[in-house]
Amino acid sequence: MSTSTGLSGKSVVVTGAGSGIGRAAALRFAAEGARVVLADLNADGAKEAAEEIVAAGGTAVTVVGDLSEQGTVDQVVATAVDTFGGIDVLVNNAGIMDRMSAAGETEDDEWERVLRINLTAPFLLTRAALPHLLANGKGAIVFTASEASLRGSAAGAAYTVSKHGVAGLTKSLAVMYRDKGVRTNAIAPGGTVTGIQVQLDQDALGPSVIMGYRGNIGRAADADEQAAAIVFLASDAASNINGVILPVDNGWAAV
Ligand code: NAD
Repeated sequence: MSTSTGLSGKSVVVTGAGSGIGRAAALRFAAEGARVVLADLNADGAKEAAEEIVAAGGTAVTVVGDLSEQGTVDQVVATAVDTFGGIDVLVNNAGIMDRMSAAGETEDDEWERVLRINLTAPFLLTRAALPHLLANGKGAIVFTASEASLRGSAAGAAYTVSKHGVAGLTKSLAVMYRDKGVRTNAIAPGGTVTGIQVQLDQDALGPSVIMGYRGNIGRAADADEQAAAIVFLASDAASNINGVILPVDNGWAAV
């Protein structure tokens, strides 16, 4: 029996690594000895996180760009392959939740933007990274889904649909690639203190959203509590866990 996480020396890509949950995950992977590609729109955030990793003796490289654009996606994969020789772990974490509009108040622009960034972007990166994960005969993908992947009362319509989509993508990947050595899981965070900016426009809030979020959130999590679950799911300790949407929510999913 080995108690090692198996992450030492591995090439790990983390999106949204310039802030919040992604940043905390990048730091934890580096502390396990992994070599980390930090991808984010936020150049300063990604640079600071990478500098923190390097200052602690770790290995990190950044890619700055919008992950909803194919060019950035290709750059992330090329950077991981050229710098670290491949991809062992992909963490699809970047996402936005800036409004909580009910379906009736959701403009086309909000719908398309949220779906593009929260669902299409991780699909594009997963598709581009898969040949490299499969090449090793062993790999792990972890998505940051949401409490909104599990219920309709945790966020607005577009965000809820995007995160239900992330749960579907997680399960599809888990089933399609389990015999090829690639596991796919997701965390479903409850309310977590990060840089995410939610505009609480009361007029745009469905009543159930207010009830669900305010009434059931309990204690807000720390970003590092989410990161710990991401690293666990990517590690050898989770070697037979595949297709799971793991709530990290202090019991909200049990309410
Ligand atoms: P955050 O805003 O602190 O971090 C998100 C990071 O993603 C930012 O650095 C941002 O620049 C980056 N990003 C956003 N869009 C991008 C794009 N198009 N291209 C590249 N980078 C992009 O927020 P967080 O809370 O750490 O969010 C991480 C994930 O957690 C998101 O998917 C979010 O939906 C999910 N989540 C958060 C909570 C919460 O309460 N904070 C709850 C459930 C799920």
